Amino acid sequence: MRNEWKLWIFLACSLMSLLVLAFLPPISQDPHYHCFAGDNTIFGIPCAANVVSNLGFILVGVVGFLHSSKLVDARRPMLMFFWFAMILTGLGSAYYHWSPNHARLVWDRIPMSLAFMTLLTLAINEHVHSRLAKRIWIPLLAAGVISVVHWYLSEKAGKGDLRWYAWVQFYPMLAIPILLIMYQRAGAWKSIWLPILLCYALAKGLELADHTLWNWGIGLSGHPLKHLLAAAAVVPVVQWTKVYASASSKLVQEINET
Ligand SMILES: [Zn+2]
Repeated sequence: MRNEWKLWIFLACSLMSLLVLAFLPPISQDPHYHCFAGDNTIFGIPCAANVVSNLGFILVGVVGFLHSSKLVDARRPMLMFFWFAMILTGLGSAYYHWSPNHARLVWDRIPMSLAFMTLLTLAINEHVHSRLAKRIWIPLLAAGVISVVHWYLSEKAGKGDLRWYAWVQFYPMLAIPILLIMYQRAGAWKSIWLPILLCYALAKGLELADHTLWNWGIGLSGHPLKHLLAAAAVVPVVQWTKVYASASSKLVQEINET
């Protein structure tokens, strides 16, 4: 299939997903969303497990950021921003879990939306076209932030609408496999997607099983494990960043020697 056709199919899928959401009724935030299992205070930290487990995001974010800063190609700003968004996700999520409410949840969701939109842009950069990725990155980031602000304002007005934020969070996980199937390109990027998608699906499962796990009485609830697994999901991206960073360093060294 010609590349232009593939691109049109991908854009049509994206548009269709938005149209389906536009025709669905608004989805408000579950009023019990902020009631997490096992909200014990330890060393003065309220909801300690949910707060401290965000260290995973901060750790992978810092390691990924340091590797991406060594890149010399066009991926550098996108990857540096992705890892920066991961660090902000850890901080924003810890801030939210310290005292969970709608207003604090905004600061958990905005960095996550930035990370999801940048991940989708990176997949487009690797599989479709770097020029297209450059053009849509900032509009996608803006769409991510607007979706969260729209949710918060609609919730405050008593007509909560999570549809657009749900698109920001779930569409990349659907779009990336579509891109992988349509654009069969070799490379390290291709091999990292399956573990990412599996970890992400498992993390979502643990989020849903938060109270069930706690009720087993083993001192663990699902939400902190979800944080750790979601952070583990991007470890393959750290590895990928590291591979390209070392290739970049070699290239710079060769240029300096000639
Ligand atoms: Zn959380």
